[in-house]
Amino acid sequence: MLRVVVLGAAAGGGVPQWNCGCRVCQAARREHPELRSTQASLAISADDRHWFLINASPDLRQQLIATPRLHPAKGQLRHSPIAGVILTNGEIDAIAGLLSMREGSPFTIYAHARVLATLKSNTVFNVLGEKNVKRQAIEIEQPFEPALPDGSRCGIEVLPFSVTGKSAWYLEGGPRVEDGEGDTLGLRIADKATGSYFYFLAACARVTGDLRSRISGAPLVFFDGTVWRDDELARSGLGDKTGQSMGHIAMSGETGAIAALEGLGIERKVFLHINNSNPAWLRDSEERKAAEHAGWQIPADGMEIVL
Ligand SMILES: [Zn+2]
Repeated sequence: MLRVVVLGAAAGGGVPQWNCGCRVCQAARREHPELRSTQASLAISADDRHWFLINASPDLRQQLIATPRLHPAKGQLRHSPIAGVILTNGEIDAIAGLLSMREGSPFTIYAHARVLATLKSNTVFNVLGEKNVKRQAIEIEQPFEPALPDGSRCGIEVLPFSVTGKSAWYLEGGPRVEDGEGDTLGLRIADKATGSYFYFLAACARVTGDLRSRISGAPLVFFDGTVWRDDELARSGLGDKTGQSMGHIAMSGETGAIAALEGLGIERKVFLHINNSNPAWLRDSEERKAAEHAGWQIPADGMEIVL
């Protein structure tokens, strides 16, 4: 049995974002606290005892407090059920939470060599000493099974695959201007015992034919829901970046995620990594209704799915 907990569903900044006065952030601070959402991350487990995080968001500490399944076991002075963290990119909202896991408990970081290189070049991550925190490179189209603390296999097979995206924004203009394979990964996550599986695609700039056939018929897909429309930030006066320039497909429009994943026979479609500028957060908005009408879900933090 594969258990999935949505620790957070928001894009970078969360909802509300500390310096944002947009409609969604204002509502989340005041009359609609239920809109508050932490930055995107999932926890997965095949045995309900050992857990793996998919990305470690800057809100990780708060997410762990809110999730009893991830608390230390009763009677143990130092313990965490978290056996590892699988990183799908090197963005701050995917890696900063690692710094909250620095108190000496062992776990393993699984990431593409390009993302591991980013961690290595940022010496602040040396706080996660190699004695306790192993770093294991994962490769595109090479399935792997993360290890439990005693070295045995966890029962979850993870298949990383390359997705159209971009490098972490803080690397733009640096030595790695070109986007490369491995900067943005999608994951297929399967329970080896039951065969149940789902896809995780929290960043995706374009849905290709290959991607469509890959995820066709899946029981569950978490998909990039950063913006409702590509020019949303500019239209809201929040900046000049487009969804595409940030490596994210829009939810709406002819080439958007809703249209691109229509008719693929996917049983359950859940948006993840939703920016606070996205009007689909608002439960009575036209955009929310359109997304739900098309069979999509906007998750709340803590939502649990069992496959
Ligand atoms: Zn906002």
